[in-house]
Amino acid sequence: MKEAKYYEKINNKKVYCMLCPHNCTIGPGASGKCRVRKNVDGRLYSINYGKVTSLSLDPIEKKPLNRFKPGSKILSAGTFGCNLKCSFCQNWTIAQKLPDAMDVKPGHLLQKALELKDRGNEGIAYTYNEPFIWYEFVYDACIESNKEGLANVLVTNGFVSPEPLLDIIPYVDGMNIDVKAFTPMFYKDICGAALEPVKKTVEFCADKCHVEVTTLVIPNLNDDMHEIECLAKWLSSISKKIPLHLTRFFPNYKMTDKQKTPYETLIRARETALKYLDYVYLGNV
Ligand code: SF4
Ligand code: SF4
Repeated sequence: MKEAKYYEKINNKKVYCMLCPHNCTIGPGASGKCRVRKNVDGRLYSINYGKVTSLSLDPIEKKPLNRFKPGSKILSAGTFGCNLKCSFCQNWTIAQKLPDAMDVKPGHLLQKALELKDRGNEGIAYTYNEPFIWYEFVYDACIESNKEGLANVLVTNGFVSPEPLLDIIPYVDGMNIDVKAFTPMFYKDICGAALEPVKKTVEFCADKCHVEVTTLVIPNLNDDMHEIECLAKWLSSISKKIPLHLTRFFPNYKMTDKQKTPYETLIRARETALKYLDYVYLGNV
């Protein structure tokens, strides 16, 4: 465990976490919504610091990033926990549970990343679950790898508060940010979160590092072409060069009552988004 950043002590040994827009008030012995920030005797700790559940050398296109160092590979690491509760989560075994994990220090991760350079590794991606709720570890690892000229990539839901984002962004080279839908209702009902902070993250990061955006297209939930059009229009108002990945839904976790996304829907969604954006890709097809 490592003492957390971005929190305040309040009355009766309670703490107030300011890492993400949930702004949890956490009593002694309890954890925040992400389950990985715990109040121990009036102090907030990150319980997933140095805990790695998945480590793999992946093609960069798998993040997905199609226009950042194409053809390269990236050492990809994840921990456990998430501040969202998406009922379609593909990685729920690590995002919504507290599984066993390996102990890995930031220096070890860097060493591994450097060793893999001769196999085409360009850096470290913090991915699989949500990197922002692994903040203290990701921040330390980013600083170390940045000194060695390696790239840092965050694959994130973008639900983070402005101050921590501002502090880490100088060390981040690329991001894939999920915009899970373009309605506040979807974020509230399906993900237990809110759309506006995610939009602010995309808008803030777009000119600070390389940004691509992913939307998982789910039948009858966010596959309305008007919604896709609004999403693409908003992205193009930031930059029409931001790549958008429209990925195919497959039934998973708590959302097993829906069919996989029809291929025709994805084609129509891509054609709609291409009216506004230069790069629109289909994923999981
Ligand atoms: S990071 Fe976790 S504890 Fe902190 S506000 Fe978000 S959900 Fe709550
Ligand atoms: S943000 Fe990603 S990891 Fe977290 S619950 Fe949603 S799909 Fe799963």
